[in-house]
Amino acid sequence: MTQKDAGATTFKSGFTAIIGAPNVGKSTLLNRILEDKIAIVSPRPQTTRNRILGVLHRPQSQIIFLDTPGIHKSEKALNRKMVETAIAAIGDVDVILVMIDAARPDPASEHLLLEKLPGNRRKPVILAINKIDKVKKPNLLQLIDSWSKAYPFAEVVPISATEGIQVPDLIDLLENLLPEGPPYFPEDMITDMPERFVAAEMIREKIFALTGQEIPFSTAVTIESFSEDPDRGMVSIHAIIHVERESQKGIIIGKGGAMLKAVGQAARIEIERMVGMKVFLKLFVRVEKNWSNDARALRRLGYS
Ligand code: GDP
Ligand code: MG
Repeated sequence: MTQKDAGATTFKSGFTAIIGAPNVGKSTLLNRILEDKIAIVSPRPQTTRNRILGVLHRPQSQIIFLDTPGIHKSEKALNRKMVETAIAAIGDVDVILVMIDAARPDPASEHLLLEKLPGNRRKPVILAINKIDKVKKPNLLQLIDSWSKAYPFAEVVPISATEGIQVPDLIDLLENLLPEGPPYFPEDMITDMPERFVAAEMIREKIFALTGQEIPFSTAVTIESFSEDPDRGMVSIHAIIHVERESQKGIIIGKGGAMLKAVGQAARIEIERMVGMKVFLKLFVRVEKNWSNDARALRRLGYS
């Protein structure tokens, strides 16, 4: 439905940033809200490196979400860059959605986060207490109480992003707080991230899922070429997996190339679902010494 045929009720539209420490469930919530796979999710922190836009189309509103990297203290160039991205997002939005993990307090990150919230009440800030499926009610009530005292939140909403508990209520709240206005984006658009970026994220997610330990933190994926052949109904993608050490390259390639093959297969299936075409995916692994702490390497890999 467009604004025109919405009748007497006014249409609302605006931006909201999901802000919080790493691993609290920001990407999970965004995926749940959009019922589509945009942000990558993993049990390890710091999976989200870039700002990702998701658009929720509702009959009376359009809510545009910015998923942000986790706010946390760090000395590393890459991590500091990620925190800057998240904080910059606060300034641009209509509503700020702060998220915490009910089951695992993170006082250092939470303190930093509270410091960055606007000092005046002009911009509404909602607190979502996530993962309530993992805590007992008295603990939850205590959390609600202490957080309500820490900042004048417009609302405090306990949710579970994985279970979907109170997520519709949260969406209603956000909608209410948006300014009136026409939609920013056409109805078929759910993200502004080009498909090649999402493809790289999907490959990175499979590396997270299939390899262990420190490997994912030392990994970046870039797409060298992404070409569509509509006549043959297929997309051909060449991607490079950047790692920091020879030993990591060995792990990603695996015995006889088995790991790389598994990553490629799993990623290909998801990319095919996204583009709606057959995908030919070719992966290369390249050693890029110390890239995650090197400003120049970061720029080249598209993180700044
Ligand atoms: P982000 O770093 O804040 O974007 O966090 P992610 O969305 O990547 O989620 C981090 C981890 O928390 C993943 O393993 C999720 O499955 C898990 N998670 C997210 N929401 C919930 C929830 O409501 N309940 C439980 N039990 N786990 C959750
Ligand atoms: Mg995330």
